[in-house]
Amino acid sequence: MRILIVEDESKTAIHLKKGLGELNIVSDIATNGLEGFALAEKNDYALIILDVMLPGIDGFEVVTRLRNNDNKTPVLFLTARCEVADRVTGLRLGADDYLVKPFAFSELAARIQAILRRGKDLQPDALRVADLEIDFFAHKANRGGKRLNLTQKEFALLSLLAGHTGEVFSRTRIAERIWNMDFDSDPKVVEVHMRNLRAKVDDPFENKLIHTVRGVGYVLEHR
Ligand code: CA
Repeated sequence: MRILIVEDESKTAIHLKKGLGELNIVSDIATNGLEGFALAEKNDYALIILDVMLPGIDGFEVVTRLRNNDNKTPVLFLTARCEVADRVTGLRLGADDYLVKPFAFSELAARIQAILRRGKDLQPDALRVADLEIDFFAHKANRGGKRLNLTQKEFALLSLLAGHTGEVFSRTRIAERIWNMDFDSDPKVVEVHMRNLRAKVDDPFENKLIHTVRGVGYVLEHR
């Protein structure tokens, strides 16, 4: 899970990123509206924390553009006290919540969790591909009716691939999504975890679900 922070005050942005990191939430920072919009369109975020007053285009304009592009990523507005009158505008534009600055991080964390929980209701609690069953709610996976003993990272990896059946994931994209690593990180980390995951998910079974797409990455599908 990844969150986008759009905030031009670097102190606030860094404070947010650090706080989210302590909750094991990975985040990216954009320092102006256009950069925020571009990142939100490029990446798949669970939530956007969006400051209202920003250089370039403001937070309201960012949401308007996202919604016009049919981007439904939840948005939580951060707004200064003097801008509270604007909150109605913000919510009407399609923000999911707002918070008045200055705020306590615990308050923000509670709002974020509430929004993410709402979002989760739209996602399935469980998923099935052939005889593989993943229970996201209980954090369990079975194959052929037998429980797979997966580490946290292996479960995350399997959930990512199984949640996008037929879609090829490059090592870089997997590293970004699961380990919050950038492009120059060691691709072996992904390979090692993938090998361990396949040993558990596929090796004991004749019908393989995880496939290597040479030179591209990995895909999970029932062939
Ligand atoms: Ca600002």
